[in-house]
Amino acid sequence: MRPSGFRCHFNLRMRHTARPNQPEGPRVSSSDAKNPVKHLSGKELHKLLDRYRVTDGKGFRLKDWDPDDTAGRLIDKAHATALLNGGVEHLATLQEKLYAQDRWSVLCVFQAMDAAGKDGTIKHVLSGVNPQGVTVTSFKAPSPEELKHDFLWRAARALPERGRIGIFNRSHYEETLVVRVHPELLDKQHLPPELNGKKVWDRRLGAIAGFEQYLADQGTVILKFFLHISKDEQKRRFLERLDDKAKNWKFSTADLRERAYWDNYQHVYEQAIAATATPHAPWFVVPSDNKWFTRLVVVCAIVDALDRLDLRPRDLTADETAALAAARTKLMDE
Ligand code: ATP
Ligand code: MG
Repeated sequence: MRPSGFRCHFNLRMRHTARPNQPEGPRVSSSDAKNPVKHLSGKELHKLLDRYRVTDGKGFRLKDWDPDDTAGRLIDKAHATALLNGGVEHLATLQEKLYAQDRWSVLCVFQAMDAAGKDGTIKHVLSGVNPQGVTVTSFKAPSPEELKHDFLWRAARALPERGRIGIFNRSHYEETLVVRVHPELLDKQHLPPELNGKKVWDRRLGAIAGFEQYLADQGTVILKFFLHISKDEQKRRFLERLDDKAKNWKFSTADLRERAYWDNYQHVYEQAIAATATPHAPWFVVPSDNKWFTRLVVVCAIVDALDRLDLRPRDLTADETAALAAARTKLMDE
């Protein structure tokens, strides 16, 4: 069971969950000493995250969410770099505590259309963190071995240990996204034919919801980020990759092929988010037409989640305390 404080925070959030069309908030302040992210008061941080967090999928419609949103006057772009740096720095400190406490683990799932900025966001947000405390797993098309197992098998193998942060760059959700858009992929999965019918997507989403509930009950803090880019912005970024020699390597013709299925993808993302957004495994629909803003929201969400855990080094057992005392005596006797 989670400590009651943790649950209480999320309940509080649920009541205040806001939508992107909410009134704009106050300007960034630089004076709050308890700021989880430098220069952003706790209240402002919560307001920012409430705007993009989905904890209940009822009535969720992707078209209600603006990819170009930057939280109005709540965040001043001129402060964005300082905020991001403050967040990255704070995250590094929290991650050390997470490691020392060795009780919770953190799983951050990143999903997006191509060129939405998953890689850059992961790189920037984790730039200050001790690499030994983080694992990043990129999920590509499954290998023959992976195809011989249940669809959550490879995700389960990549989960972070206690004390660690695990980043899924794409994830088990692809099994309800790309595979749903291209059902021929399902045919390669060796499922018994009677289990390969229409209900397969609902069953998979149900399995994911159950899996995430189980992980949460085991002490995994789950944060899921959908980097929400517009079709126009994707086109702009693709063209940039084609026009700029230094960015050519980032372009793949497969990306263009998938772009043709844009509406199908939006539909399946909507279905996936609606079916799996919960207080213990929330989705953040992060506006991603502006990279600076995407990174800021993501770092704020991770910092906020870690801050709620009241991290401190775990209490030593009597034997461990005795061992330390013995080590001290031995050193002093040298
Ligand atoms: P980038 O393009 O920035 O390197 P990426 O995540 O798009 O990042 P790619 O190697 O281009 O990486 O693509 C990985 C591909 O693997 C994606 O098209 C994704 O849909 C696909 N994929 C991931 N999981 C599955 C899955 N379970 N079944 C089929 N395809 C999958
Ligand atoms: Mg790609």
